[in-house]
Amino acid sequence: MTHDTSFPKHRSFDKHRSLPDEVRLENAMAGFVAEFGPAAQTWMNACVRCGLCAEACHFHLATGDAKYIPIHKIKPFEDAYSLTHGPFSWLNGLLGRKPKLTIEELGEWEELIYDSCNMCGRCTLACPMGIDIAELVKEARRGMYAAGLLPDRLARIVGNAEKQHSPFGTPEDFRRTIRKIEKEYGVSLPLDREKADVLMTLTPEELENRHLGVAGMARVLHHLGLDWTLCSDAFEATNFGYLSGNMELQGELTVRLIDKARQIGARMLIVPECGHAWGATRWEAAKWYGEPVNDIEVRHIVEVLADAVEEGRLKCRPVGESVTFHDPCQQIRRGGLEEKPRILMRALGMELREMDPHGTEGFCCGGGGGVLANDRAAPLRLKAFEIKKRAVEATGADRFVTSCNICEMTLERDITATGFEKPIESLIDLIGTHMITDQPPLKAPGRRTARKPAERKPAGRKASARKKG
Ligand code: SF4
Ligand code: SF4
Repeated sequence: MTHDTSFPKHRSFDKHRSLPDEVRLENAMAGFVAEFGPAAQTWMNACVRCGLCAEACHFHLATGDAKYIPIHKIKPFEDAYSLTHGPFSWLNGLLGRKPKLTIEELGEWEELIYDSCNMCGRCTLACPMGIDIAELVKEARRGMYAAGLLPDRLARIVGNAEKQHSPFGTPEDFRRTIRKIEKEYGVSLPLDREKADVLMTLTPEELENRHLGVAGMARVLHHLGLDWTLCSDAFEATNFGYLSGNMELQGELTVRLIDKARQIGARMLIVPECGHAWGATRWEAAKWYGEPVNDIEVRHIVEVLADAVEEGRLKCRPVGESVTFHDPCQQIRRGGLEEKPRILMRALGMELREMDPHGTEGFCCGGGGGVLANDRAAPLRLKAFEIKKRAVEATGADRFVTSCNICEMTLERDITATGFEKPIESLIDLIGTHMITDQPPLKAPGRRTARKPAERKPAGRKASARKKG
């Protein structure tokens, strides 16, 4: 099945907000109700109020504020459920009761739905009833978005994604940037090839600020001998529809990538260092086609590299220092890739000192799920960072790395804001710079846009030198 990938016109977010309150409320309820599938209905009836999820959430642990208890965050969703689908909802209809929720109440809940939930799934893991609170928050966002209740900055980013498929810019902006990276680093970036085995995607952050990472990744893909391409009309991996609750946009962005992969005859679509991009494309694509997407293998870049190491196709010079690893929630806890980055760290000859907790139980960086794109949430996010900071310090490791762009940007900002001494680095960049290859070396970066993530900073140097993101 192929879809039209021309840019459709979405209703803008501002237009939603200008609607009368009753209409916005109706839209919110319709959005909530649309998400009341069998799983959501089961979960809504299953909570036994045991409170175990409270101890799982970094925002609750960092503040002690009861409003951040995970199950509490989906209250409007629960209320909408009990009014329309709950065991006594028939009585509401009989008595002609109107929904009790008001737009003001929903506005008050906006902070809980968008600022204080990364949809990281740590509470999901803790719940003895198997309630996927992260998924319920995601579903609740659909109603909130429909009512025009979205943090301002996130709304602006989503607006750009609606207009041109990527907040980064138009296909022309993309082509110009790709050619610029080629010139800057002397690397070839295949673009708009009509046929290729692999469709590679990127994030806005990589295109704006992480050119060295893009060049390094291209070098690795060439080294592995993959037949790959970037496409200027399907390059955006980050799914702002998924993050905001704009389901129409979520579907459009995913379908655009899968359809493009089919159009060029690709058998694999590689998702870059982005957490929710992986979830939206790998786990949710089938939703938009009504059937499993079996002909396109959606793979995270970490998997591709780890498999190449295990098959002996990728070897690295040893870094020879100790490292601690921040586990990106969407890759590790919700994506099942716990072992993959560890394979890469072993390939780099690094001594891994695990944080407590780590792996599937690791704490979120605090910026995922659109929280980083929401300026208003920064003070709360910084409080949650204290948990991560203590865990990193306790390991005594020389280096601190991760394998997700969003985690890296979040931790960079938090490190800068708090003066924490240990910079965060990209595992993929380390592979790109330590890979043993006969590929030509990258030209030395000569522009502001390039950072030097894999070059060891002198001990004690402040991470604020890397202020960006
Ligand atoms: S998904 Fe993560 S951030 Fe959201 S409530 Fe659960 S533990 Fe907290
Ligand atoms: S852990 Fe599960 S059952 Fe217990 S309060 Fe939280 S959501 Fe409800």
